[in-house]
Amino acid sequence: MKFSNLIMTCIFCLGASSCFSQNAKDVIIETHQLTPNVYMLTGQGGNIGVFVGDEGVFMIDDQFAPLSPKILAAIKTLSPKPIKFLINTHHHGDHTGGNSNIAETGALIVAHDNVRKRLVNSKSSTESALPVITFSDDMNFHFNGESIMVFHIHNAHTDGDAMVYFANNNVLHTGDVFFSGRYPYIDVKAGGTVNGIIKAIKKVMMLIDDDTKIIPGHGPVSSKTDYQNTLNMLEDLKAKVNKAIKNGKTEDEVANMSSITKKYDDLGYGWSFINGEKVRRALYQSLKK
Ligand SMILES: [Zn+2]
Repeated sequence: MKFSNLIMTCIFCLGASSCFSQNAKDVIIETHQLTPNVYMLTGQGGNIGVFVGDEGVFMIDDQFAPLSPKILAAIKTLSPKPIKFLINTHHHGDHTGGNSNIAETGALIVAHDNVRKRLVNSKSSTESALPVITFSDDMNFHFNGESIMVFHIHNAHTDGDAMVYFANNNVLHTGDVFFSGRYPYIDVKAGGTVNGIIKAIKKVMMLIDDDTKIIPGHGPVSSKTDYQNTLNMLEDLKAKVNKAIKNGKTEDEVANMSSITKKYDDLGYGWSFINGEKVRRALYQSLKK
C-alpha cells in the first residue's frame, strides 16, 4: 500500500480498529535498525519505536489492535525481555489501537494527561487501553543505561502530543508532529495548531544535531535537514495564509488560492488526505483562531 493511501486509511479509521481486521493478515511488520539498540517498526499506522536492553523493552506507539500479535512477534526477535513501558505520542487510533493488547503483556502505558482524557471520552477505548501514568509537561526515564526524555509539545498535531528523545542513541521519535516530506495533519478539533508545530520544530532543533535519526509519525527515517525543510515550508505557508487573512479573505477564498501551496504541491508534499486545499484550510482555521 502506498504511504499516502495508508495514512488516509489510518486517519479515516482513527479509533476504529475493527475496520482493519479484514486486512491485518496482509500487513507485514518491517524492522528498521537505527542504532545497536533502537529500531523503527512499520506496518499499518504510525511508526513504532522500540528500544531494547538488559532491563527490558521500551516501546513507542502500537498501531492497530489486530496487528498486535505480529508486532509482538517482531519485537520478540529483537529481545526476549518483556515490554516494560509503552509511550503513546498522542491519542489517535493508528498509534494507540494496540494499547490493551500490549498492556496485557505487563507493560505500563505512559502518555500526556490529554491523551488519557481523550481516550476516556472515546467510545472505542476500554479501561485496559488507558495510560496508567500521565504527565503534564516533561518526564525522564533512566532505563537500559539510557536517558530517555519524554516531553509534551503544546497544541501541535493535537493537544496531547509528546516526543521521545534517546540521548545516548541520538534518536528522536516525533509522533505525528512530523510527517516526513508531507503536509502536516493539524487536528484543529483536537487542539492542534500550526503555531504549535512550528514552535515544536524550533525547540527540537536545539536538541538534535546532524547525526540524529528521526522517527517521524509517518514516513521514512529522517534527518535534521528533512525537519528543517518542513519548518521552512510551514513558515512560508503561514506567512502567505496570514497575509490572505489580513487582506480579509474568507476560509473558502483561502482554500481556493492554489498559488499559496503550488511550490510544495509540485514538490509532492500533498497526499490523498491532506492535499494543498486541505492544508490551506487547516492553516486558515488554525491561524484565525
Ligand atoms: Zn495522529
